[in-house]
Amino acid sequence: MSYKVKDICNFMEEWAPEKLAADWDNVGLQTGDPVQEVNAVLTCLSVTPEALEEAKDMGANMIVAHHPLIFRPIKTLREDYPHARLCAEILRNRIACFVAHTNLDITEGGVNDILATKLGLTKIKPLFRDDSQRQFKLITFVPKDHVDRLRDALALAGAGVIGDYSHCSFQSEGMGSFQPLEAAKPFSGEKGQLNLEPEIRLEMIVPAATSAKILQALMNHHPYEEPAYDLIALENPNRRIGLGRQGILEEPMSLAVFGKKVRDALCLPHLVYYGQGEKKVRKVALLGGSGGKMVGKLPENTDVYVSGDVGYHDAETAQLRDIACIDAGHWGTEQPVVMEMKERLQEAFPQITVSAFLETAPGIRL
Ligand SMILES: [Zn+2]
Repeated sequence: MSYKVKDICNFMEEWAPEKLAADWDNVGLQTGDPVQEVNAVLTCLSVTPEALEEAKDMGANMIVAHHPLIFRPIKTLREDYPHARLCAEILRNRIACFVAHTNLDITEGGVNDILATKLGLTKIKPLFRDDSQRQFKLITFVPKDHVDRLRDALALAGAGVIGDYSHCSFQSEGMGSFQPLEAAKPFSGEKGQLNLEPEIRLEMIVPAATSAKILQALMNHHPYEEPAYDLIALENPNRRIGLGRQGILEEPMSLAVFGKKVRDALCLPHLVYYGQGEKKVRKVALLGGSGGKMVGKLPENTDVYVSGDVGYHDAETAQLRDIACIDAGHWGTEQPVVMEMKERLQEAFPQITVSAFLETAPGIRL
């Protein structure tokens, strides 16, 4: 069994859909040919010259990375510039480079879920709601004989997904009424006369991101010339998707003890914490990668925030709000996803070798 670059891309897309990525981000296949056969895959956090050497050594012609290889537009491929030289070397070696970045942060089972699990959190849920993940309730009224066809068409367009279930809907019977006007071409009834029609009230949940496509499916598959429908904004967000995670520790513990737990869970030589070591912590918020700027938006009841790239003034802001901070580093909080990518890809594509490029923690402790 052979696999193509696009097969790996499709697998990653299922896990971390591109539409979840921030609009400033650059994700997906960044180099290579979608129909090229894959020999072996290397997963890594960033595509560095060292990661590229490792890929070449193991004969991998595909790299799956978290950080974009190409983020800002490239204006030149002059090889006396280090990043351009790296890109040129990747092209010369015909290596396909796929990136899942903010989409992998936000998605279920991504960077932040992995981090929350490693830190032993329970009752894990998104820290910040992603408004692009808002949902609507679609309610429409359809003659009984047409309800199955319409429900299937709406489901195919993305309506009615709740967790691991598709085609979720509710149906109730009732009586609709309409009086066709002069220019109407009614499904049933006579012009100028009130028509009563037995109908099913069909309700389904609709993600905001695909609502236009779902409404188009409604128009295409509803038998009426003018389908009646309600599209109502819901307050219940998608429960598994969003930026960062929050959760609670089974047992409260001191900040100092929790700090050590974080350090050991992430296999770090050291980390920095801000706050009183004896402060009891239980409610934890976290954001893998660069999360210092989000401290002002943390929920009120947070005891401790775990992230990376927490600046001096970020920590000050948190402490004013009585929230302790643990800066486990950008690398430290994101590195666990590299092994998760390797394991998921290896399981899905058992016939090819998938390796993880696991660097040691950057920086030297003096
Ligand atoms: Zn990062």
